[in-house]
Amino acid sequence: MIFTDKAHFLSVLRDYCIQSGFAIVVDRSSPTSFTAQCLELNCNWRIHSSVLPDGTTWAIKSIKDSEHTCRGLYERNPLVNVKCAASKLIDDIRANNDITGKTLNDLLWTRYGVQMATSTLYKMRSIALREINGGHDESYGHLPRYCEMVKQTNPGSAAKCAWRKNDPQLSLTFSRIFISFKGAIDGLGTGCRIFIGVDGAHLKGNYAGVLLSAVAIDANNELNPFAWAIVSVEDGKNWKFLI
Ligand SMILES: [Zn+2]
Repeated sequence: MIFTDKAHFLSVLRDYCIQSGFAIVVDRSSPTSFTAQCLELNCNWRIHSSVLPDGTTWAIKSIKDSEHTCRGLYERNPLVNVKCAASKLIDDIRANNDITGKTLNDLLWTRYGVQMATSTLYKMRSIALREINGGHDESYGHLPRYCEMVKQTNPGSAAKCAWRKNDPQLSLTFSRIFISFKGAIDGLGTGCRIFIGVDGAHLKGNYAGVLLSAVAIDANNELNPFAWAIVSVEDGKNWKFLI
C-alpha cells in the first residue's frame, strides 16, 4: 500500500484502528519511518512503515501478527479525540448547527462503533462551527465592508456601521449596525399601508445585543420588513441611530 505522504498514512492508520476497534502506542516516529504496536500489552500486533526512495511517498513495510490476539476496545477509543471527531462529523454539523451531543454520539456509534463523552462532543461542535462559520470576531469584522458593498451594489440603500474604541490598546469594538435595502424602502412608499411597527428581539451568542426591526404591512396584509439594526440596548439613543 502506497500513501501520498506521512500525514496520509497516519490518517488511514487511524481510520483503520478506529474501525477495527483497537488503539496503538507509537514506538518510533521520525520524518522517514514509523513504528507502532497495539495498545494492549499482551497483543503482538505491530506495524512498520517508512518513506520510499522518492522521499515523499510512504509504504507499509510490515505488519507483525496481522490478526490481533487482544479483544480490542469497547466503545471508547483514545484515537477518537476532539480533532478526529470534528473531521468525521463536520458535514453533519454543517447541515444542522444545533445538532445535539446525543445525536453526534449516535452517529459515531453507528458509523465507527465508538462513543465519546457528550460534553466533549459539545466542545467539538463549537470548534467545528468555528471552522465552518469563522470566528464571531472575524464575522463582525466583515460588517464595515459589508455596509460599503450594500451601498455600492444596491444604490439608494442605507447601510451604516458604528464602532467605538474603549481601550487605546485594543482594536475597535463593534457598536451598532443599520441596514435598509432600496427595494424595501421603495415598496414602503408604493405598496404598503400607512402603518409601521417597530420591535426588538434579544440576541443570544457571544456579543448579545438587540435586533431592532421596522416592519410595514402591504396591500395583502403581509409583513414587509424594511429596516433592521443591531444595537447594544433598546433605548431612545439607539432608535435615533436608525433615523
Ligand atoms: Zn491488539
